Amino acid sequence: MERTSIGDLRNHIDQTVKVQGWLHVLRDQKKIQFIVLRDRTGQVQITHWKPNDMPLAEMISELGTESALTVTGKVVDNPSVKLGGLEIQLESLVVENKAEIPLPFEPFGEIDNLPALDYRLDWRYMDLRRKQNLLLFQVQTTMEHALREFWVKNGFMEMHSPKLMGSPSESGAELFELAYFETKAYLAQSPQFYKQMAMAGGFEKVFEIGPVFRADPSFTSRHMTEFTSIDMEMSWVESEEDVMQNQEKMLQYAYQRVKDVHGEEIQEVFGFELEVPQVPFPRLTMGEAHALLKELKYEMPPEKSNDLDPGAERAIGQYIKEKYNHDFVYITDWPFAVRPFYHMKRGENGTRSFDLIAGGLEITTGAQREHRYDVLLEQAKEKGLTPEGISFYLDFFRYGCPPHGGYGMGLSRLLMVMLKLPNIRETVYLFRGPNRLQP
Ligand code: ATP
Repeated sequence: MERTSIGDLRNHIDQTVKVQGWLHVLRDQKKIQFIVLRDRTGQVQITHWKPNDMPLAEMISELGTESALTVTGKVVDNPSVKLGGLEIQLESLVVENKAEIPLPFEPFGEIDNLPALDYRLDWRYMDLRRKQNLLLFQVQTTMEHALREFWVKNGFMEMHSPKLMGSPSESGAELFELAYFETKAYLAQSPQFYKQMAMAGGFEKVFEIGPVFRADPSFTSRHMTEFTSIDMEMSWVESEEDVMQNQEKMLQYAYQRVKDVHGEEIQEVFGFELEVPQVPFPRLTMGEAHALLKELKYEMPPEKSNDLDPGAERAIGQYIKEKYNHDFVYITDWPFAVRPFYHMKRGENGTRSFDLIAGGLEITTGAQREHRYDVLLEQAKEKGLTPEGISFYLDFFRYGCPPHGGYGMGLSRLLMVMLKLPNIRETVYLFRGPNRLQP
């Protein structure tokens, strides 16, 4: 018999069906047993009249919640059943996998009573059974699909760049080094060099959604040592403004799609209405951002006077929300001192670069890149890099490379912002940090 999804049972009234899922709740009464069975699509009550099969009744009594079951039975319309107004009258039950008793934790209790996040990460597959997580990864799927759709419609090509590299792509810091036969290799910190190579290769517009690695020993709620980066690069730009305009339209497109598909469930499960952002997003230059922070009486640590720290990002985010009712803001014109060598300069000390702050959190860094070989070489030297180490990259700019720009955006940070979740460890399938390589 083919499996019927629980969410589809209404179309099978008076038929005998096979359903498969987890034992969500068992109410064991004197003469009757009620099993609530759960699958991805919903929950259903299954009734077993004990005298019909006493040995089966005894076996069911022993079952732990979360056991994986296959059940057959007749679907009966029964308006008195709270759960969807129908029930299944049990005919057969197979235990596919018994859940041990007790469970490591009760995934379906009150959110406030859940064990600490770190413990839940040890038992991530149990934690994933919660409806918040099921929805989160459904949203992720819809969103990634929408991003790809947007790009493909707009003439972008998808690329998959190598994650093993012979030399660092960003800086020597935050770099994972590994033994590679007789030599050393590094794990890619971003697809930066290779997506720029696609510009030199004439692809004009590319994107990549893939893993990147950062040997960053910090324990914040927004950093991981491995994360999925959403990267884009486009040629023939006039300035970074072209890149921002492309990105904001793409985000609007993705938010709209997520709202269309999951809006109601987001309201139900996370308790808020997803807002599709208006374009253009507000923009502030770095100078304006610092003047604003002064006005807001936010004190930047002196060593960050060129930069924005997380508190400043939050303060700016809050201000933009209050003033423009917008969750996103671009901060443009960053000083070269805090940007990588390949960002194009504007004037002596500035750059044609931007960050995107969403919900008070940085989710993107982007820029027009320097595509002129001589200037790029000078900028690399200015940052103390040895050109020999990156000569393969510098070579991309020797035989006709168009002006171009792009950005990198953290997938899990975007989800944090979209679903208003406080910790990136909740929004990634499996968290990797300085102290976590398991499961
Ligand atoms: P931060 O200042 O927050 O450490 P960054 O400036 O190092 O970030 P970039 O190198 O510009 O980040 O990376 C681009 C984007 O990738 C960031 O805006 C963010 O969304 C994401 N990102 C960067 N580092 C991490 C990380 N360690 N864990 C998760 N996402 C990250």
